Amino acid sequence: MDERRERDFRRRMYPGATAADWADWRWQLRRRARTAAEVARVLALSERERNALAVPEAWRMPLAVTPYMLALLAQEEPDGPLRRTLLPDRREARVAAGELTDPLGEEAHTVAPGLIRSYPHKALLLATGDCAVFCRYCTRARTAKPLRGGRGPAAGGGGYGPALEWLRRHPEVRDVLVSGGDPLMLSDAKLGRLLRALRAIPHIQLIRIGTKAPAVLPQRITPELARMLASVQPVWVSVHFTHPAELTPRAAEACRRLRDAGLPLMNQTVLLRGINDDTAALRQLNEGLLRVGVKPYYLHHGDMAVGTGHLRSTKARGRAILRELSGLISGYGIPLFMEDPPGGGGKRPI
Ligand SMILES: *Cc1c(COP(=O)(O)O)cnc(C)c1O
Repeated sequence: MDERRERDFRRRMYPGATAADWADWRWQLRRRARTAAEVARVLALSERERNALAVPEAWRMPLAVTPYMLALLAQEEPDGPLRRTLLPDRREARVAAGELTDPLGEEAHTVAPGLIRSYPHKALLLATGDCAVFCRYCTRARTAKPLRGGRGPAAGGGGYGPALEWLRRHPEVRDVLVSGGDPLMLSDAKLGRLLRALRAIPHIQLIRIGTKAPAVLPQRITPELARMLASVQPVWVSVHFTHPAELTPRAAEACRRLRDAGLPLMNQTVLLRGINDDTAALRQLNEGLLRVGVKPYYLHHGDMAVGTGHLRSTKARGRAILRELSGLISGYGIPLFMEDPPGGGGKRPI
């Protein structure tokens, strides 16, 4: 998305919004499209898209799309790849055999509110249920909840006290992944307090943040945020780019800012049917990521979350694509192909 097209879209669809509004992550969150009418106001829709938007009771999770992402969706044809990642589909109401609301068995591994421990030495802290946008293939649709930007309680409710207390008492846990939801929905102050509390626990060697903000709300990566994150170093960031169309100049700038602050960036992608499960799309995505200093880390086979069958690709296809990629791009650009089968046994390479 070049600057001129973005500006034209803003002026046409959000008259009254200034360039400074558009660059403000809180403005972007406040103006998220949450209903069919708000989406239809800015996008020319296919009949399939309109039909799915008309039945919110059949959606597997809430709808939320930032104006920034709507500008990208407006550039695509109806039914285009990014549209299918963010707009609902009637098939979300279908539950296929083997699909679960908690496909990774996280409830059974919850050791404190919002804290999941599925591996002996690492823990996952769900810092909030909110995200800038809700991906229709989300594995954690059960906790997805749009809040006002910057005010996110732990996904388990309440504050982080019990989770932090549990971590203090478990020295065998040396790696904490702060995810959600998207922890960058928290204010700098709140996220900073959480990260400093984790940093103060001597046995926690690795702090990681899992976020899709650089891809869908790059405005969130402000110089102030980068400074705060740099102050709690070392912190690694797992970003989540799904399709090369997300690699806009703003997204590249967000990645550059995090790297300049000293944070290593790793990408996780879900292999999605008809969206990115082809060699050309993943080649473009992974080459583009390397160019902005992001290492493609995991390519996830779609897990067994309810209502995601229409988006799940196949392991055979994923394997074939990776085989082709290895002859086409630098080895740095080849992610590990992972699955996380039901039962809570954890991730494993395919
Ligand atoms: C994915 C995941 C992690 C981190 O796994 P890595 O393979 O080390 O990146 C930690 N905890 C849970 C529950 C997870 O699902």
